[in-house]
Amino acid sequence: MPLRDARVAGDYTTALETRKACISPQAMQIVQNVIHSRASIVWNVSRMRYLVLSDIHANLAAFEAVLEDAGDFDFIWCLGDVIGYGPDPNECVARLRECPHISLSGNHDWAALGKLDLRGFNTDARLSAEWTQKQLDPGARAYLHDLPPSRVESGYTLAHGSPRQPVWEYILDPVTATLNFGAFDTVICLVGHTHIPATYFMPEGAGDRRRCQVRTPQLNRSLHLNSGRWIINPGSVGQPRDGNADASYAMLDLDEKRWEFRRVRYPVKETQRRMREQGLPARLIERLAHGQ
Ligand code: ZN
Repeated sequence: MPLRDARVAGDYTTALETRKACISPQAMQIVQNVIHSRASIVWNVSRMRYLVLSDIHANLAAFEAVLEDAGDFDFIWCLGDVIGYGPDPNECVARLRECPHISLSGNHDWAALGKLDLRGFNTDARLSAEWTQKQLDPGARAYLHDLPPSRVESGYTLAHGSPRQPVWEYILDPVTATLNFGAFDTVICLVGHTHIPATYFMPEGAGDRRRCQVRTPQLNRSLHLNSGRWIINPGSVGQPRDGNADASYAMLDLDEKRWEFRRVRYPVKETQRRMREQGLPARLIERLAHGQ
């Protein structure tokens, strides 16, 4: 259990560990939510380290590598698309639910649940969504069904795509980002969906007409978020698309508003082998090796 601050969650965690083996996943989620609410109450006196991730895309090998590499953390914020594309949808949902977390839903989660018309997807994405629909067990389906595509949490806006169109919009450029700064009320908004780590910064007092700045993500370096407003994307765990095949994620110190982009290598070939076994589209298998 990666909870690091005994002052925050020790009592609750010990109880959680004891009960984990004998309670249902639904009850487990309720206990985790209690931990989170208690932790939020003491937010100002104890440092909280959050693992921020997005777009796991049913890639268990990548997800496990991220959990291992992240070290101690208190809580996960998952920005959606837990499933779709990859070979391990049920396993990834189950693994996420073992951790203290909250998650959003993304367009691929919706596709696998039948909430979207698959004609809006390209052929490979559609084939993958149809395969995922057939694989999904009732527990994973029920869990994903109830997730929102955006929410405000501890003073942060979380959205899968963008705050103004949480399911579909891609924030890939400063113009789109600038328009979205008017669509959320908090200082910081975290998004996923593009599979590309990114940082957009609006200086204090910039006003509505000024375009935001793009800040190139620096790996393993602290980014201080104490001034201005921000839209930040941690990149994708299970299907990076920035030319780097390593799983992408971030750590956030909630108290000090300190963000750190991270990458970790994972056994891509293992995920590719499992995709081949399941007959998933060749192009989706190939692209993992190139981070495209
Ligand atoms: Zn995605």
